[in-house]
Amino acid sequence: MTSENLPGRFDRLRRLPQIGDQGGERLTRARIAVVGCGALGSHLSETLARCGVSSIYLIDRDVVEPSNLDRQTLYDEEDARCARPKAVAAAEKLRKICSGGNFQPFVADLDSTNAAELLSGAELILDGTDNFATRFLLNDFSVARGVPWIHAGVVGVSGCVLPVLPRRGPCYRCYLPEEPPPGAAETCDVAGVLPTAVAAIAALAATSAIAILVGRENEVATRLATVDIWRGRMGSIAVPRREDCSVCVRGQYDYLSGLKGTARTRLCGQRAVQVRPLGIARPDLAELAGRLAGRGLAEHNAYMVRFEAEGKTVSLFSDGRAIIHGTDDPAAARSLYARYVGL
Ligand SMILES: [Zn+2]
Repeated sequence: MTSENLPGRFDRLRRLPQIGDQGGERLTRARIAVVGCGALGSHLSETLARCGVSSIYLIDRDVVEPSNLDRQTLYDEEDARCARPKAVAAAEKLRKICSGGNFQPFVADLDSTNAAELLSGAELILDGTDNFATRFLLNDFSVARGVPWIHAGVVGVSGCVLPVLPRRGPCYRCYLPEEPPPGAAETCDVAGVLPTAVAAIAALAATSAIAILVGRENEVATRLATVDIWRGRMGSIAVPRREDCSVCVRGQYDYLSGLKGTARTRLCGQRAVQVRPLGIARPDLAELAGRLAGRGLAEHNAYMVRFEAEGKTVSLFSDGRAIIHGTDDPAAARSLYARYVGL
């Protein structure tokens, strides 16, 4: 993108001593990847595009739904009516905002088989995902390749941000060594999410992104920033590097190698897909059933939880495996699992 086609476009940004003309130029040459184009991904990609970042890979496996529109700011009613892939709709919207930008949509389920292809060339990766398995994969890629990434997550009225700078800070696994068991962590699809919490967390993550891209990486705090937007509370927690961290100390990239992580799927029967996450603990079915009470919970016993979601029936078994009836699309099944059970 050139700033010449609209003179003065980046004037207020470049007046900042933190940015300047030099920083502004670096932003226009930057190439980043936004993984997950939901609420956080909308805010992050739009903010960075408006700041001049002209090359953005937009990676997402889902389509726009009506329930997205309160917080996923790149999309409108027409996108939801047409069930357009988010990556495609996001790229088109960003081109309207910055016509010279190179916004590449990838309608894809990021996993160990395509991570190197989809992420290579990005100098910074932003987390707009909704699941731990993909975050662990991003962390593996980041540490293995020396590419910074910024973790961001929001549920309910709270969220957190952790910039991972492989050259000088802890990694995400220093903060969270293992994935929580399925159903143990809250998801937005079950617990809800306040749009202003997304905006606050995205602002923190985008600020760190800008600092890294203009060459001020050493001014970015490698601490976990936390926000409770409802009570107006902000904080930050030190994340020490774990002496035995499997990723940044021992160099074991189990999620990047495919040994753990992204759920395996297979078609089973007509309009049904089995999702089997790899390398995770057994789910707490009782806790998940409690969370789903009143939200389409159909059945719960010692061996399984069955519930209805988005016109599909999910049967989650005590070994963490689920069968999703009502679809024959593996990516859609994985997405449903991630959003209602948690991956
Ligand atoms: Zn680590």
